[in-house]
Amino acid sequence: MPLDQNDNQKPNRPQKPIYPPGKPNYFALFFFLAMTALFIAFFFRNDQAPIEEMAYSDFLVYLERNEILEVKIYDNNVIDGLRRNIGGEQNRFKTLIPYEDSSLIPNLRDRDVKITGAVAGMTFWRILLDIIPWVLIIGFIWFMMRNMQGVGSRNFQFGKSRAKRYHDDGKKITFADVAGQIDAKYELQEVVSFLKNPQKFTKMGARIPKGVLLVGMPGTGKTLMAKAVAGEAGVNFFHMSGSDFVEMFVGVGASRVRDLFDQGRRSAPCIVFIDELDAVGRTRGAGYGGGHDEREQTLNQLLVEMDGFDSKDGVIILAATNRPDVLDPALLRPGRFDRQVVVAMPDIKEREAILTIHAAKIPLAENIDLARVARATPGMSGAEIANLINEAALFAARRDKKAVEMSDMEEARDKVIMGVARKTLVVSDKERRMTAVHEAGHALLHYFLKNADPLHKVTIVPHGRALGMAMSLPEEDSYSRTRGWIEDRIVICYGGWSAEKLFYDETTTGTKQDLEQATDMARRMVCEWGMAEEMGPVTYGQEEEPIFLGKEIARHKDYSEETAKRIDGAVKKILEKSVTTAQTILESRKKELADLADALLARETLVDEEVRNILGLPPKLEKAEHR
Ligand code: ADP
Ligand code: MG
Ligand code: ZN
Repeated sequence: MPLDQNDNQKPNRPQKPIYPPGKPNYFALFFFLAMTALFIAFFFRNDQAPIEEMAYSDFLVYLERNEILEVKIYDNNVIDGLRRNIGGEQNRFKTLIPYEDSSLIPNLRDRDVKITGAVAGMTFWRILLDIIPWVLIIGFIWFMMRNMQGVGSRNFQFGKSRAKRYHDDGKKITFADVAGQIDAKYELQEVVSFLKNPQKFTKMGARIPKGVLLVGMPGTGKTLMAKAVAGEAGVNFFHMSGSDFVEMFVGVGASRVRDLFDQGRRSAPCIVFIDELDAVGRTRGAGYGGGHDEREQTLNQLLVEMDGFDSKDGVIILAATNRPDVLDPALLRPGRFDRQVVVAMPDIKEREAILTIHAAKIPLAENIDLARVARATPGMSGAEIANLINEAALFAARRDKKAVEMSDMEEARDKVIMGVARKTLVVSDKERRMTAVHEAGHALLHYFLKNADPLHKVTIVPHGRALGMAMSLPEEDSYSRTRGWIEDRIVICYGGWSAEKLFYDETTTGTKQDLEQATDMARRMVCEWGMAEEMGPVTYGQEEEPIFLGKEIARHKDYSEETAKRIDGAVKKILEKSVTTAQTILESRKKELADLADALLARETLVDEEVRNILGLPPKLEKAEHR
C-alpha cells in the first residue's frame, strides 16, 4: 500500500502589507504622476525646433558668406545662433568654440551679426533636465527596495532570524491538545516546571537540560508537542525551521542563528524551537560533492551559541528531527541536545484519542464509531489522522450532509491511504470481471484460513494504481507476527492469481504485486526469521545501510553459492505449498467464489458482513476487546 507521507506542513509566513489596509497608497500615486510629468517635459525639450550641430570651421565659412544672422555666446565657448542659407531658409544651430579666437568678435561685428551674451547651463530647465534621469533611477531603486521589504522578500533582511513568536493569544496549545504521547509528556513536564519557576530549580542546584531533541517519524506531532510545552509553561516561543537557516547566501544562516538566540535571551524565560534540525545539523563533511560551507558555518554557529549560555538564563532549546541518525555527533554532546524524547507513532488506542480530539471540531452523525476507524488505520501518523478527519468533513460537505457519517469516514480513510478513489476510471468489462474474480479470490481465503486477519472490505473501485483491493482488519496492532499468520498471508497473496487461473486459465499482470509480496515474505521467512526447517534457525545475509548511498538497503552476502541454492530451494518450497493451498481452497469453493465475484461486479464494494452473507457464514461474533 503506497502510503503518502506528506510532511510538508510548512507554517504560513504572515505577510506584512506595505501599507496598512484601507489606506490608499498616496506615495505610489504621487510618484507615478511626478514621473509622468517629468517624462513629458523631457520629451518636449527635445521637441523644440531641431538644432543643427555645426563644426566651428563650417561656422566660419558661413560667416564669410554672410549667412549668419545672430549669435548668442555662452561663456565664450558655445554659440547658439540663427543662420539663413542661400535658399533663404532659416535654421538654428549650435557650435563650440574650440580655441581662443580673438578675431571672432571683430569678424561678427564687421558683418553686422546680432550678438548676445549669456551664462551657460544656468537656466532652471537645464539643471532640471540634467538631474531628471538620476532622480528617476534613484527613485526607482529606492521604491523597489521599499516594496520588496514590505512584501517580505527575504533577501533584504539577510541576517534577521525572522523567528516566529507565539504569544498567549487566547487559543494556546497545551498538552491537552496532544493525544497519547504519555511518555513524551512526562519527560517534557520537567522542562515545563522549570520554565514556570526557574528559581526553584536553580536554588536546588539541579541541572536542567539545555537542549531537548524530539525524535519521531514525520507527522507524529513533534511540532505540536513543542508548542504545547510553551503553552503549558506560558512562555514565549520562538520557532524556526532548519531549512530557514540554509539560504542562498553564505553567512546568512550563521547570522540568523545569532539573531535567534539574541531574541531568545532578550525575552527569557522562553523556548527556542528549531524544527527539522537535520536540515542544518547533518554530519559535517559527509555530503555529496564535498562539504556545504554555508551549512557548516550555520551548524558551527549553532554549537557556539548553545555553549554560550546557561539554561539558568531561562532559555530552553527544543529541536525536532526525524533523522537523528544523520545528525552531527557534536550536536548530541553533553551541554547541547543531550536529552532525547521519542515522539512515537500512535497505537490503536492513541489513534482513537487523536480521532476524538480532531473529531470534536466537526459535527458527527450518530453512527460514527471512532474505535472502528482507529482499528482500520494501522500505521497512520497523527498528521494523517488529522487529515482523515478533514477529508471526511469535506466528503460530507460535498454531499450536503448535516453531519459526518461513517461512510464519509471510510471514504476519507481510503483516500488518505490509497489516494483518491477514481470512480471515473474507464475499465473494460473483461478487466472488471477479471478484477472481481481476482479480488474475490483474495477475500474468500480470509474466511478459510485459521490465522488470517478478518476481512475488512473488498472492492473493485480503483484506488491509486490498483484496480481493486481486499483489505484486512487486524484485531490489534502487532509488532511481531507468528509463523502461521505469515504463511496464511502468503496464501492470501496467491488468492488473486489462483482465482484468475481457475476461471480463465490465464493470469493478468495485476498479480505482479501479489507475487512480489509473497516472494519477499517467503524469502524473509527463510533468511531472517529462521522459519524453514531445512535451513535451521539461522539468518542469512546482513542488512546494511551504506553511509554514502542514501537509504537503499543492500544485502550483504555472507554465505556460499551452495547455501544460496538451498535458500532458493526453501523459498520455492514455501511458495509452491502456498499456491497449492490457495488453489485447493478456491477449487473446493468455486460456486461461492463465483457468487462473490458476481456480487462485487454488481455492488463494487462489499464489507465483511455482506461477504459472510454471500458465503453462507454466520455473522461474526464480536470479540471482546482486551489487550
Ligand atoms: P511533526 O512535526 O512530527 O511532523 P506535526 O506536529 O506537524 O508533526 O503534526 C501535524 C498535525 O498532526 C498536528 O498539527 C496535529 O493536528 C496532528 N497530530 C499529530 N499528532 C497528534 C497527536 N498526538 N494528537 C493530536 N493531534 C496530532
Ligand atoms: Mg514538524
Ligand atoms: Zn491481488
